[in-house]
Amino acid sequence: MQITRNSTDTGHGPSDWFTGAVYVDTVAAPSNRSRVSASSVHFTPGARTAWHTHPNGQTIWVTEGVGLCQRRGGPVEIIRPGDRVFFEPGENHWHGAAPTRFMTHIAMLEVDDEGTPATWGDHVSDEEYAAAPSIEGSVLEEEI
Ligand code: MN
Repeated sequence: MQITRNSTDTGHGPSDWFTGAVYVDTVAAPSNRSRVSASSVHFTPGARTAWHTHPNGQTIWVTEGVGLCQRRGGPVEIIRPGDRVFFEPGENHWHGAAPTRFMTHIAMLEVDDEGTPATWGDHVSDEEYAAAPSIEGSVLEEEI
């Protein structure tokens, strides 16, 4: 048994892999036979991952805010708290916050034999990011 106390500093998402300010807290770290890697990731408004793939796929579960995600060749999708997304092994994709909202998700994956969690590609351009649908239009306002 190993207890890791809430004493480790929050990490910054490196600029090679992210656009904008992103903060990462480790939830589970792979070790020995355990391949599970999990992180709580806070994206500031407009921040997002670069395009990337995961060797064994990835699940993200949105806990706060409003986010966006896209697989290569598909539309940009709006994701909200309680939504979960599975990216297939090798599926090229990105995820991040909406332009005007924070977004937090728990990210879960299994590393490969070499301990690699992801393979990183180009940053998501402003043009690609701007293709997202309006988050204001995605929920009907209601007067009661
Ligand atoms: Mn991913």
